[in-house]
Amino acid sequence: MMCDGDHTKPPCFSTLGLRRGVHGSGSLKLPRIGAHAVRESWHERFAETPDVLKSSLRRQTVVPVLDLEIGGDEFITMAGPCSVETEFQLMATANHVRRGGARILRGGAFKPRSSPYAFQGHGLEGLKMLARAREESGLAIVTEVMSEEDVPMVAEYADILQIGTRNMENYSLLEAAARSGRPILLKRGMVATIADLLRSAQCILDNGNPNVILCERGIRTFETAMRNTFDVAAIALLKQISHLPVIADPSHAAGHRDLVPALARIAVAAGADGLLVEVHPNPDKAWSDGEQSLDFAGFDDMMDGIEPYLALRGPARTQRGRALVRPMEAVG
Ligand code: PEP
Ligand code: MN
Repeated sequence: MMCDGDHTKPPCFSTLGLRRGVHGSGSLKLPRIGAHAVRESWHERFAETPDVLKSSLRRQTVVPVLDLEIGGDEFITMAGPCSVETEFQLMATANHVRRGGARILRGGAFKPRSSPYAFQGHGLEGLKMLARAREESGLAIVTEVMSEEDVPMVAEYADILQIGTRNMENYSLLEAAARSGRPILLKRGMVATIADLLRSAQCILDNGNPNVILCERGIRTFETAMRNTFDVAAIALLKQISHLPVIADPSHAAGHRDLVPALARIAVAAGADGLLVEVHPNPDKAWSDGEQSLDFAGFDDMMDGIEPYLALRGPARTQRGRALVRPMEAVG
């Protein structure tokens, strides 16, 4: 043992001093550049956004939505079409996803489209269709709000306001949405870092709204095979450092429907509190995002596929909607 007891020699960095008895005392001693100096703590790293970080006082935020709690024991699936198209399309989807265990209906009435010639959404008419779907299905509604002026109108119809990836850093929209008092589903910007996402969440909290739900929906990287790169590590990290619920959107992350079930399973394994998934009665005829939308059978398969992964997370993690609905289906 070259280093033992010989203080005239430089410290033995070949083992970083971790071998038992290295310093003669038998206890573990770290060299002066100890582990704490290798990287700062997550709390230091995200010190700019203290209110979104877990603390001894705030371990987990549970967001109430109608009779649901997001971030609590129940795993919450939000499902529905990318865009609200027709009364039939919306109602058929709402009824199917409810029977399959979804608790919240998604659907865009205001669509942020890259092309000005693409379908932009039905606006107020779409919101009214969503409200009727809520009445008929009992599902809560999440829908996107794209501009500050639209906030009061969208908040009148929606149970959760979705802030889309393209608007994550639109601070005047964030402030207006926060002040509406509705829970906010904050999607990560496609080129936003985790720190950027947390800054936007902090902005909503600063404006008096504690009910923020973070959403990982994939980011842009050099990989182009998928529409985006699903940042699954972000889900794990957000669950570790933040008390806010985290929802995963495998549809926009994948961009291809055949990848969606696998990404959904991975999201569950990473600790997500729920999913946001696009479902359409006839995806090939969808007015937007058909390639990534599941059909009804695909949705059922995805829901079946996540069950064992939820079970691994412990008995508290359930999909209440499914447990209630499946036996009825078997009968009917
Ligand atoms: C959507 O949910 O349909 C949508 C437009 O999402 P994103 O803002 O993540 O692209
Ligand atoms: Mn979409």
